[in-house]
Amino acid sequence: MAKKIVTKRSWAEPFKIKMVELLKMTTPEHRLKAISSAGYNTFLLRSEDVYIDLLTDSGTNAMSDRQWAGLMLGDEAYAGSRNYYHLETAVKKFYGYKYLVPTHQGRGAENILSKCLIKEGDIIPGNMYFTTTRLHQELAGGIFEDVIIDEAHDSTNLHPFKGNIDLNKVEALIKKHGASKIPYICVATTVNMAGGQPISLENLKALRKLTLKHGIKIILDMTRVAENAYFIQQREKGYANKSIAAIVKETCSLTDGATMSAKKDALVNIGGFLAVNDKKVFEEARNMVVIYEGLHTYGGLAGRDLEAMAIGIEESLSDDHMAARVGQVIYLGEKLIDAGIPIVQPIGGHGIFIDAKRFLPHVKQAQFPAQALAAAIYTDSGVRTMERGVVSAGRKANGENYFPKLELVRLTIPRRVYTQAHMDVITESIEHVYSIRKKIKGLQMVYEPKYLRFFQARFKPL
Ligand SMILES: *Cc1c(COP(=O)(O)O)cnc(C)c1O
Repeated sequence: MAKKIVTKRSWAEPFKIKMVELLKMTTPEHRLKAISSAGYNTFLLRSEDVYIDLLTDSGTNAMSDRQWAGLMLGDEAYAGSRNYYHLETAVKKFYGYKYLVPTHQGRGAENILSKCLIKEGDIIPGNMYFTTTRLHQELAGGIFEDVIIDEAHDSTNLHPFKGNIDLNKVEALIKKHGASKIPYICVATTVNMAGGQPISLENLKALRKLTLKHGIKIILDMTRVAENAYFIQQREKGYANKSIAAIVKETCSLTDGATMSAKKDALVNIGGFLAVNDKKVFEEARNMVVIYEGLHTYGGLAGRDLEAMAIGIEESLSDDHMAARVGQVIYLGEKLIDAGIPIVQPIGGHGIFIDAKRFLPHVKQAQFPAQALAAAIYTDSGVRTMERGVVSAGRKANGENYFPKLELVRLTIPRRVYTQAHMDVITESIEHVYSIRKKIKGLQMVYEPKYLRFFQARFKPL
């Protein structure tokens, strides 16, 4: 049975803690040294120098005792591992896709999918870009086109489904290039780069109608499909009494296949897959996976990882889990809003996104305000966040920088890891940094890798 959060009742966690991981507390002097040797890039910090780690929700989830027990049932056969069949059953039962190709993580699936479906010069529309997704599309010869609604680029717009696709933008692309140039549309649930914003089923249904008319596939980036379903349950007419599991199944049924980073919603530390309904695409992908990942029954993962994923998929679809998961994110977001911190609204599913342009209006975008703010927050409290702005956006094929409208610092909340007290400490730190914001200066990039530069770039203060 689906449950709505009853206001004035807390969303307390539907679990208790069985094992704890001790954290190191550090001094401001220690952190100043650490961030400077990390080139002011929070990706280059050592984890042991971090107190509360909000770098990402990717692979940082706490597994349940059932998942840990599942690890012991790993069948480490090279071929035909029992755990592969468990995963295949879970993907069919909960997502409804016919064919499964496991991969070591989401980008492994993106690589294979892009190579199977994209030809040189093809157009790949998507509801805002994601870093690895777009790069694999481009490396396969495709050109990404953003078709998200305009509201998504405005951090103050309160549209309930800022992940929606603007069908007029899709139609314009079909008119301009012809449907044969568009092998598929990539639909993300929820949209990470827009601040974890959901897409509605109404929008996805309309897109399905349009794409069927033109013979264009829909491929879901289903990395956060359960969080997306939670917002549909809370906000979309007709879904208040549907379970997360039912909404997820319906979402997948409107698409032709999906790539999944199981390190997010599926509650594991490593893993992913490609799932499709078309047998021909499956056969090509299954052939390709042996080149890049491993045999088609393990895809770069150990048998135990496949088992943990199969169990995690089921746990991720519990209504109580999702109410507490997103409830914790909303708790933090509302505290920050009350403190006057400029964040992306509505609050998203997997984290809070601080609007660095409004937080540091004196720092120009070319001086990496979000990068500078992430470094300042770390120095203040040991809370590690990450940049989602001009550094993450990278450069176009012609070498020019992308200058995205959104210049954000992401506070990503790992699933089932931190407590409400941690959320309070985070709020206090951000409030303090906000009070001294005028002292924060921009940065200069002193080392820039060619691909996905945000991971390894180095900076120095101006
Ligand atoms: C993380 C992520 C990916 C890539 O998955 P990895 O497991 O990190 O390779 C793709 N799309 C979205 C929306 C993601 O958040």
